[in-house]
Amino acid sequence: MSALGRQTVELLQQLIRGAAVNDGTPDGGGEHRQVATLLRFFEGSGLDGITVEPHPGRTSLIIRVEGSDASAPSLALVGHTDVVPVEASGWSRDPFAGEIVDGVLWGRGAIDMLNLTAAYAVVTRSLAVEGFRPRGDLIFAAVADEENGSRFGVDWLTENRLDLIDADYVLTESGGAHAGRSPGITVMVGEKGGAGRRLRVTGTPGHGSAPWGVRNAAVIAAEAVTRLARHRAAAVITTQWQDYVRALDLDELSAAALLDPDRIDDALPRLGTLAGFAHASTHTTVSPNIVRAGEKGNVIPGEATVQLDIRILPGVTREDVEGLLRDALGDLIEHIEIEGDWFGEATLSPTDTPLFEALGSAVRRVHPGSALVPMLGVGGTDGRFYRRRGVPAYGFGVLSDRWDYGTFRRLFHGNDERIDLASVELTVTALDHVVRTFHDPHGGAHAHRSPHRKQATA
Ligand SMILES: [Zn+2]
Repeated sequence: MSALGRQTVELLQQLIRGAAVNDGTPDGGGEHRQVATLLRFFEGSGLDGITVEPHPGRTSLIIRVEGSDASAPSLALVGHTDVVPVEASGWSRDPFAGEIVDGVLWGRGAIDMLNLTAAYAVVTRSLAVEGFRPRGDLIFAAVADEENGSRFGVDWLTENRLDLIDADYVLTESGGAHAGRSPGITVMVGEKGGAGRRLRVTGTPGHGSAPWGVRNAAVIAAEAVTRLARHRAAAVITTQWQDYVRALDLDELSAAALLDPDRIDDALPRLGTLAGFAHASTHTTVSPNIVRAGEKGNVIPGEATVQLDIRILPGVTREDVEGLLRDALGDLIEHIEIEGDWFGEATLSPTDTPLFEALGSAVRRVHPGSALVPMLGVGGTDGRFYRRRGVPAYGFGVLSDRWDYGTFRRLFHGNDERIDLASVELTVTALDHVVRTFHDPHGGAHAHRSPHRKQATA
């Protein structure tokens, strides 16, 4: 293993042990521990960082390495330091010990995304120590609160300290898994949007001893949940899905089914670990995740609420979301009010950029003959805050060939999250190459700012 690889493994272990568990409450997280670890890591490198703390303990660290050419595009490496909670009983090992067993590093955050955050830090530090001066600015950002919407992280920074984290190009999570047997390496070029809603169900309260004929809000809510779960929304075949299916190298018949909006639902069960991802990649999804009704054991509830996690494909509007819910709920709608109007549209980055080119070249060095497979992520990452402003943001990494996308996804937020050391090595080596290529002090070919960038708004 290279020096960069060894440093990344060590830092990754420390960040896993830092256990910045984001439980969704303002006082959760504890990213200040991670920032302390990173500041120690950067000691003696000559690099100075700036920390922000929008709420006690919710700290982010930003280090900007000034480029030699003010007109050259800047590149930000944006890694979150928080992790999602664990269900300890489901783990075979201590999720916060950072143990290495048979070449595999275990722990919460090993792939989401402390591995990348550690690699970003190692690349930034090693280039500085070596005296490498990037052409454009290189920004290392270790950010808080990604796992709960980033309101103490990139969202806050975008609103309040854009000067710190702004860049012309961005790398963040997640990518690097292999697609199919052909050497395709996934790169996240965009992600679905969100439009969460809450259903408020109204029934008639009454005595639990005589339920017959009473409109129990819990019963109506249960029926609403069942209808939503059974509803089959129309499938949409995006260009990213087409690219992905082609990269899977399936037989012609299976591929045709996955690219046909009328047949894809029936083809899903044959996809194994990829089925959920395939469904989410081609549908606006509705997941009823919090259901509440009732206060007392002998009282029929007159009110119930159902919180819906709704993820939308590019091009879907507020009206589409409302229409989908009405279709699914049918006549139940007379007892239900749809609450909330939050709407974040899907985001996509172009792929005809010098950064994307640099990613391709880095991947071909370690997996010769491979090609990048641009993907639409079905969850959310900090990339969206940049893409919304027209800044290309890619989820990039390079994993060893034991990782197909299905396995990779299952470990995200799952039990026994872990990464093999070979993947840590591949990723940090590739990132080092990407930064050197993109920021080549002697290069001139890529010396233009992103043409996709929107004008800054006041
Ligand atoms: Zn993540």
